Amino acid sequence: MKELIASQRKYFLAGHTRPVSERKRNLRKLHDLLLEHEIMLTEAIYKDFRKSKMVTVENEFSIPYGEINSAIRRLKSWSGSRWRLTDLSNFPARTSSVPLPYGVTLVIGPWNYPYMLSLVPVISALAAGNTVILKPSEITSNASAAMAQIINNHFPKELIHVVEGGVEKTTELLKQKFDKIFFTGSTQVGRIVMRAAAEQLTPVTLELGGKNPVIVMPDCNLKRTAQRIAWGKLHNNGQACVSPDHLYVHESVREPLIREIGKQFMRITNSDPRQSPLLPRMVNERNFDRVIGLIDPDKVVVGGSSDRSECYIEPTIMDGVTLEDPVMQEEVFGPLLPVLTYSNLEQLLESLKLQPAPLALYIFTSKIRKGKKILKELPSGGGMINEVVMHFVNMNTPFGGIGASGMGSYHGKAGFNDFSHHKTIMVKPMWFELFLKYPPHRKIYLRIYRSVLGKSFRNFWH
Ligand code: NAD
Repeated sequence: MKELIASQRKYFLAGHTRPVSERKRNLRKLHDLLLEHEIMLTEAIYKDFRKSKMVTVENEFSIPYGEINSAIRRLKSWSGSRWRLTDLSNFPARTSSVPLPYGVTLVIGPWNYPYMLSLVPVISALAAGNTVILKPSEITSNASAAMAQIINNHFPKELIHVVEGGVEKTTELLKQKFDKIFFTGSTQVGRIVMRAAAEQLTPVTLELGGKNPVIVMPDCNLKRTAQRIAWGKLHNNGQACVSPDHLYVHESVREPLIREIGKQFMRITNSDPRQSPLLPRMVNERNFDRVIGLIDPDKVVVGGSSDRSECYIEPTIMDGVTLEDPVMQEEVFGPLLPVLTYSNLEQLLESLKLQPAPLALYIFTSKIRKGKKILKELPSGGGMINEVVMHFVNMNTPFGGIGASGMGSYHGKAGFNDFSHHKTIMVKPMWFELFLKYPPHRKIYLRIYRSVLGKSFRNFWH
């Protein structure tokens, strides 16, 4: 591992990753490799958790392809220097800032979208001119091996290399000196990563999980609300970081909403969730057991059946859930939808302010202004009004968490910036010197400072 990192550092310091043309060439190559090996990659992920070809192409490949194409188109502009205003005390200097690569980066991926969530940060890292070591999740071992096969066989290890393995390998990696770490996974492991990064003072981006609430107000379009929530919950079978975790439904619409979501579950899965190609399985028995453990049979009003031999859980709704129930103590991450009710919106918002900040907050209402106000008041990584999940696919805006759901953001230009150090460069001509800088510091200088540079100097001088 030490040797691998040393070889990447040498490659980086030799400047091989700097030219924009080289970065574009690498991105194009990655694009073509993915395209060429799509069938092998889709077969691998199917073996991991029965994710169908159509779903894999739609949500594992389309975003990386879009990210690559967008980066190639915009890289020249993203990576160029920008003139900045210069303050008066630095007259007649000229200031610019330029995004520069960090160096050797580490990307640690999760299992739930093993290609997309590993490749998108890798694309940002390469676009910004870094070298990358990618550590995919060992849980989706077939997808991890498939990625290692295509990347390690076609790229020089000095530029990008996939290191496979679990906790032990990751722990070993985290002991090494990296110039940037990008982690996607659970809040619990995020803490471990950040602790290790602190030892080396390595900057980190943490894309973590959390419980994403959905607030359903009585004035919403009930049918469309049910349709969108049901679709969002079944996306990747609930195993998504932006999945709607649980509902807060106004008591006046609770019954019809639950009925309609139940109908939508059936419609989306063609009345046969077990055979639906849209639903991958729970990724392993551990996660199957975890989600089954969250189900209170007395509160199940839709679904509830399961089959451990296939890691299958029927899309399930639990009604009458309270904050004390086990299902409200952790991220659900499965096809289980707990429903809580509220009667007083203000009280609900006050209690939500005290919860750990989720990655996403969703509100269904016809009062858009009110919805926006709530989204601005409650902390969350991102938010949507009258939709769920889909903000993740917008590459034109930063995506990331806050507090317990993470720090830093990526996607598109935000990803490029996340993997860049923005260096300020100031150039000062020699023909002018500010005499005020030098002693003796006379009172008249203070007056000049105050009038020219502002009142903030007052405290400093007294
Ligand atoms: P995880 O934290 O268990 O694993 C993530 C990665 O960390 C894996 O590569 C794994 O090998 C490694 N890892 C696990 N334990 C470790 C340890 N003790 N020390 C060092 N490394 C370790 O997460 P997961 O189960 O793969 O993914 C699910 C979680 O990720 C959910 O909480 C989900 O919400 C979150 N997630 C967040 C985002 C986001 O964009 N914010 C996206 C996807 C998933």
